[in-house]
Amino acid sequence: MLEEIWTKAVAFHGHACPGLAIGVRACGHILEHPDFARAPYGSLCCVTENDACGVDAIQCLLGCSVGKGNLVFHGTGKHAYSFFNREKGRGLRMYLRGQATPGMTREEWQNHILSAPFEEIFTLSEPVLPCPPPARKFPTMFCELCGEGAAEHAMRRQEGKMVCLDCFRPYTRGW
Ligand SMILES: [Zn+2]
Ligand SMILES: [Zn+2]
Repeated sequence: MLEEIWTKAVAFHGHACPGLAIGVRACGHILEHPDFARAPYGSLCCVTENDACGVDAIQCLLGCSVGKGNLVFHGTGKHAYSFFNREKGRGLRMYLRGQATPGMTREEWQNHILSAPFEEIFTLSEPVLPCPPPARKFPTMFCELCGEGAAEHAMRRQEGKMVCLDCFRPYTRGW
């Protein structure tokens, strides 16, 4: 199965790289896990802690996407992904424990990620954060300065007017 999903992910991502390999291994585990495999449409949710190449594997192989609201970015900068099955109330976090050894080429590292036992690549734990709530719908409001419409939650009040984030001038006195 790994070879099949690797080929599919490379076609989606546009190139083969170690980062994509990390994402593919994570997806391979999810696709074979009794708590997550065949989760009903939209109930599989991923919180990714980076916006690197591996996230493309998750979009392509698991169908998690920003547009559906089941792919959420939490920028710790770690090679870690949490997966949730909303239906079953189950969550699982994977943290990349494997490291390229000094002198390893990029290709050797990529092959290592794709072939080493799963336990050598990832540490599994409970997710740090809860499952993100399903996407909400918000009414559109129109900025009183530029006239463009935006979702209500992204509007700000400024000098008595409702304005969008582009027209809003944040008031900070920090240093
Ligand atoms: Zn890449
Ligand atoms: Zn505006």
